[in-house]
Amino acid sequence: MSSFNQFTKTISLEKYGITNAQVNYQLSPEALHHITLDKNQGVEASSGALAVRTGEFTGRSPKDRFIVKDEVTEHLVWWGNINIPFSSEKFDALYNKVISYLSGKEVFVRDSCACADENYKLNIRVINEYPWSNQFAYNMFLRPTEEELEHFDPEWLVVNAPGFMANPDIDGTRQHNFAILNFSKKIALIGGTGYTGEIKKGIFSALNFILPVYKKTLPMHCSANVGKGGDTAIFFGLSGTGKTTLSTDPNRSLIGDDEHGWTQENTIFNFEGGCYAKVINLCRDNEPEIYDAIKKGAILENVVLDEAGHVDFTNTSITQNTRVSYPINHIENIKVPSIGKNPKNIFFLTADAFGVIPPISKLTPSQAAYHFISGYTAKVAGTEAGVVEPVPSFSACFGAPFMPLHPSKYAEMLSNKMIEAGVNVWLVNTGWTGGPYGVGTRMKLKYTRAMINAVLNGDLGLYNYDDYHIHSVFGVAQPRTCPGVPTSVLSPRQTWNDDEAYYTMAFKLTNAFRENFKKFEAHCNEEIRRGGPQRYAF
Ligand code: ATP
Ligand code: MN
Repeated sequence: MSSFNQFTKTISLEKYGITNAQVNYQLSPEALHHITLDKNQGVEASSGALAVRTGEFTGRSPKDRFIVKDEVTEHLVWWGNINIPFSSEKFDALYNKVISYLSGKEVFVRDSCACADENYKLNIRVINEYPWSNQFAYNMFLRPTEEELEHFDPEWLVVNAPGFMANPDIDGTRQHNFAILNFSKKIALIGGTGYTGEIKKGIFSALNFILPVYKKTLPMHCSANVGKGGDTAIFFGLSGTGKTTLSTDPNRSLIGDDEHGWTQENTIFNFEGGCYAKVINLCRDNEPEIYDAIKKGAILENVVLDEAGHVDFTNTSITQNTRVSYPINHIENIKVPSIGKNPKNIFFLTADAFGVIPPISKLTPSQAAYHFISGYTAKVAGTEAGVVEPVPSFSACFGAPFMPLHPSKYAEMLSNKMIEAGVNVWLVNTGWTGGPYGVGTRMKLKYTRAMINAVLNGDLGLYNYDDYHIHSVFGVAQPRTCPGVPTSVLSPRQTWNDDEAYYTMAFKLTNAFRENFKKFEAHCNEEIRRGGPQRYAF
């Protein structure tokens, strides 16, 4: 196996307590690909990509994500069912069990970085039980140069042991899997789950604490791209709302897919070095850039292949959350380095399965703050036939599961930055039109893209009163026309053909917004509260 190793440097893991391990340090992605095949842990798809199954978990497990409560975190973290406390003693005991589990095994170690801006760079050492998890780290984190590797000093450690099962009674976990952040020891300890997203979101969660607390930088769960004129756009949104899809645009250079920081120096930078795209129903016609990125070096997760190695992207028999990870340079049009100036436009993406939010609207600063704190999207309960009620889902800052601090901290920073930068904020419903889930249909991707392009090309200025309509429930400015989009699509009410049903549903969603916002009211001023939907406004 060492014949694959292009680096002469070897490292010992004894200082981490891992003894007698066969250490594969900094293997090339090609080597990891082949080792994965040799171990029967994956197959090669006809595209050349590696296809793996992540096992029992095909998504993150937010209920099993903990933060060690100690002198560093105690008074800063917003404790609760998102940031679940874990004791230092229990952490030490569990860590010892995990490293003794890894001792004597073959392990894969990779030094990598997060944060594309040199001033914020975080050195990470990732120790994986499986070769493909280590290739995921290669794809998703920033790849240090050989020179940087010579003197690499890892600050954070990710220990990833999917095959290790915790014993909840003894170890203090909820069940056999866990993802625990320890800010004093600078360790992300992941066990019992092979879902690779835990690795990237572990470091994201760490940065969501480190950057605002120590570096005055706002971390954001968003994608970002930049136009030919240097204008940056960022796209916030919960899972499945379109961050990856909409930021991948052949006419704009991709800055990053999912995680960014907004600095005091008025720049934004990518945390990562790769993309992690959903591939459910992926087709080349709609998403050619992502489709073509699935080649040698990419890792497909939990997809179903036929005998010839062709992927059936419509097959959800393993999970709806089928994914691919690839280094960002699998996309042709990228910004190098992954840094942009202050954004000119911010998009809040929501997949509204109630079908009542306009497909595009402009927000006032107070509406922007309100919607950022609310972080609304909708979940569709299932895919079975028959009427299935959508469920509203609110996740503060469009990323509550990854935010260790109180949402108001991030919201305050964002509000200040938005006002300073004079940025335009848009609410985009990439969800349903013509009725709720079950009745209406998902907004056509080509329309959403046309609306976003219109904003970015300056064709949706909304300067004149005649250009827009203030939505009678949500209070947002809804454009009357948009190039490339049928006028009837712009008004959700009109797409329903039933005003009463439309308003009944809109009020239902309004109530859900109000109910959710109650827990933030004490932290928000009147200005922000006024940004919410106005139930009786019409
Ligand atoms: P995550 O945080 O989990 O990475 P994400 O916000 O990046 O999620 P995407 O991976 O972009 O979400 O997923 C959006 C999905 O919705 C894609 O599968 C895309 O094809 C589909 N889709 C359908 N219609 C639209 C639309 N109008 N706009 C955006 N995406 C759409
Ligand atoms: Mn994404």
